[in-house]
Amino acid sequence: MTTKPLYASDAYLTQCASVVVDITAEGIFLSETVFYPLGGGQAGDAGMLVTEGGETLFIADTRKTREGIYLGETAHVPADGQHDILSRLRKGDKVQARIDWEKRLRHMRLHTASHVAGAILGIETDGCSVTSAHARLDFVTTDPIDPEMLNHALEQVVIAGREVTLELTSVNEIERQPELLATVGSNLPVSDDAVRLVHIVGLDLQPCAGTHVRNTREIGGVRVKKIEKKSSRTRRVTLELIN
Ligand SMILES: [Zn+2]
Repeated sequence: MTTKPLYASDAYLTQCASVVVDITAEGIFLSETVFYPLGGGQAGDAGMLVTEGGETLFIADTRKTREGIYLGETAHVPADGQHDILSRLRKGDKVQARIDWEKRLRHMRLHTASHVAGAILGIETDGCSVTSAHARLDFVTTDPIDPEMLNHALEQVVIAGREVTLELTSVNEIERQPELLATVGSNLPVSDDAVRLVHIVGLDLQPCAGTHVRNTREIGGVRVKKIEKKSSRTRRVTLELIN
């Protein structure tokens, strides 16, 4: 079983028809889904599954399983206190899977904003976490980062309205192109699998499996919440949305 990840090619898809493949202690496994599972620094989606009978099962989180027969598969984790509806749900049931779009759009805006911040600073990162509340990036540098400069540059990129596109390639293909390798080399996955590149046209290109807005204009209001010295070699930048 591999759940078809509809969010990978269309991050704006808010719902899809799906079929329950299995139900385990880890969650509900579906034939296809619009729910993004926690990974690549981005939080998992919440939302609901609506059965053919019109019952609603709330999903609190989405995660890739770490063990068991469904290792690495996408588990839709039900919110607590729904034993009755869960006990009626069966393999093979048709459901409508709907994400909490308001929350997801915040993930998308902040994730794209974090790529923009990385491109502006041009400093390697060694950690990134995107939730609906903030994006946190750990930049490997001993120099201070000026929040005013970063705020201004972020605003300029939002105003400029740069397109954000997805490109599918492979590790082999990237290694054949010295320019591309120089840009994405440090983030290159180790497997031979297809690599998805997120391209902020004219600004940034990097491998990323997360969900992004289509144009930097859609990031909207974003600003630096704080910059901390996390370690002697790392400065942590936290971004937040302001509308
Ligand atoms: Zn990313």
